[in-house]
Amino acid sequence: MQNTPLAEGPSVQRCLRCARELDELDARPQCPYCSGLLELRHTLPKERGAALADRFRSSASASGVWRFGPLVLPNGADAAVSWPEGNTPLISRKAVAAWAGVSALRIKHEGMNPTGSFKDRGMTVGVTQAVRVGATAVACASTGNTSASMAAYAALAEIPALVLVPLGKVALGKLTQSLAYGARTLLVRGDFDDCLRLVRESAEELGAYLLNSINPYRIEGQKTIVFEMLEQLGWEAPDWIALPAGNLGNTAAFGKALREAMELGLITKVPRLLAVQSDGAAPFAMSFRESFRVRHTVRANTIATAINIGAPASYQRAVQSIRETNGVVTSVSDGNIMEAKAIIDAAGVGCEPASAASVAGVKQMVLAGTISPDESVVCVLTGHVLKDPEALDRYHRGTEPPPAHANRPIEIDASLSAVADVMRTLRPT
Ligand SMILES: *Cc1c(COP(=O)(O)O)cnc(C)c1O
Ligand SMILES: [Zn+2]
Repeated sequence: MQNTPLAEGPSVQRCLRCARELDELDARPQCPYCSGLLELRHTLPKERGAALADRFRSSASASGVWRFGPLVLPNGADAAVSWPEGNTPLISRKAVAAWAGVSALRIKHEGMNPTGSFKDRGMTVGVTQAVRVGATAVACASTGNTSASMAAYAALAEIPALVLVPLGKVALGKLTQSLAYGARTLLVRGDFDDCLRLVRESAEELGAYLLNSINPYRIEGQKTIVFEMLEQLGWEAPDWIALPAGNLGNTAAFGKALREAMELGLITKVPRLLAVQSDGAAPFAMSFRESFRVRHTVRANTIATAINIGAPASYQRAVQSIRETNGVVTSVSDGNIMEAKAIIDAAGVGCEPASAASVAGVKQMVLAGTISPDESVVCVLTGHVLKDPEALDRYHRGTEPPPAHANRPIEIDASLSAVADVMRTLRPT
């Protein structure tokens, strides 16, 4: 294999509001002049279309992020802090497609990443950047998965990690991961939005490198969900890509990835994005309905803890993504999220509650006539089924009356006849 140098030229961080540029090694989390969000601009490779696709396919990297290094972090790929991550499956499951009401439905399962969520794709780049800027510590506020991922990657890089999570609002699997990987974990008496404000202030004060989703390097890594999915589809874009939307980092990343894929001739058609929130945390859906004239914030309250966010940080970037892809933003009830999750789980796939919002949103849009049953759709499942065991326990064992898809365990005496009684009720599915 020919050893092409990755970097074709310098990258810069550009403010989305005032267009001023910062060096790629500037560690400040936001524009120092106007507090706008930063976005990376790389010198893009010279190859186009099939030649570029070939280069990705023949990459020596075992990572589904760093294979796309020239579009992610051209000058940092050599020193990547990598698990490796990505290379997640794109699958079809009849039961899920039938429930949603579209025949060509595929599932991109990002729960199959090393720490069980797509956050690993951004975190490998974010922690690599932390090392590049010589950070002595990393910090984040999180609804759980960002902290689990940051804790693991900080351990890989041997950098201390500080995590701020809202007390009582983080799924058990995520909180325990953060502890297991060794992050100093603070349980804040407040909500996620309080954690975010606090970590921004303290990172500045204490000199920790901030790894929230406003970090533009994380966005670069998350773009590879889209690159990899398109590659798995032979660079044949689907009609729709559906994803859950909370802090809007992923919505931002997907839009940027599609913009670049078009610019580089990797695809010839832009899929429409469907960003799905929960009714209990739907500020972005509210803004969408008003053509983004007002930036709403709400007091968030949903069972889907990963999207329980009332003031999404990447709003500005995500609006651009929806506009450029002729996208749609909607919200679904917690009941519909849990029903979609039960269908996905029972298909042997499994995901955490927030992930199921993508599939619930597709069903809603099919019923509304926005998505036609013969269009092709990729639903992104963002997190693993074991992330939130408490939600599963409540759904299957605790809720009265049992929801339609509850699978109650059956307590029996330790006798053969008791087992036989149950066996008689089993039917092939
Ligand atoms: C972080 C996360 C989301 C929300 O993604 P945003 O980029 O914040 O919109 C959805 N699902 C899971 C499982 C997550 O961890
Ligand atoms: Zn600015």
